[in-house]
Amino acid sequence: MPGGYAYGWRYTTFFIDTSVYLPWLLGQLSRKGGEVVYLRERFDRMEDLIQLPHPTIFNCTGLGARSLCNDANAYPIKGQIAVVAPEPAMDWSISADGFYVYPRRADTIIGGTTEPHVYTQRRWVRVRGRCGPRSRQLRLVAWSAGASGDAGHA
Ligand SMILES: Cc1cc2nc3c(=O)[nH]c(=O)nc-3n(C[C@H](O)[C@H](O)[C@H](O)COP(=O)(O)OP(=O)(O)OC[C@H]3O[C@@H](n4cnc5c(N)ncnc54)[C@H](O)[C@@H]3O)c2cc1C
Repeated sequence: MPGGYAYGWRYTTFFIDTSVYLPWLLGQLSRKGGEVVYLRERFDRMEDLIQLPHPTIFNCTGLGARSLCNDANAYPIKGQIAVVAPEPAMDWSISADGFYVYPRRADTIIGGTTEPHVYTQRRWVRVRGRCGPRSRQLRLVAWSAGASGDAGHA
């Protein structure tokens, strides 16, 4: 096994490149007559949301639900990734002990961190360095750190 691991699993599976799939899904919605209306405003009270004239409202405010819905159980899980150049011939992915590499059409994702209750988006881990000696050859295109909201479990 690479990396000195004693054992692991290898399997064939499907992989969704969200940078391709999400625009495709949106296109499907438009082709079937659906329409997405973007409201670029902040809602501070649920009452303001409920008064919107639309028949159905999906509340997808993520971590914002903490204050909007007064949900103290919602907390962030910070993640940090490095984005490097695409590797067109790469048809494999690896994941071990929180480290992962995901090939995508336009780039390659190297991750990651999982930090519950961390609010800052500051970069602190040199994620790319985890790729060992080869990391010096990897051209960093971007890095990203953000927080996904999650419902806490008591
Ligand atoms: C570094 C990093 C890399 C990731 N990479 C991947 C990946 O490759 N693939 C993958 O599937 N997932 C990935 N994720 C996870 C993914 O980003 C999240 O699961 C996803 O964004 C959650 O979507 P969401 O719509 O529920 O919430 P969010 O994306 O958090 O969207 C919530 C929206 O609500 C808005 N909002 C909040 N409060 C209010 C308010 N009061 N009024 C108005 N608007 C409000 C916010 O501005 C925001 O636009 C990654 C996460 C991180 C941090």
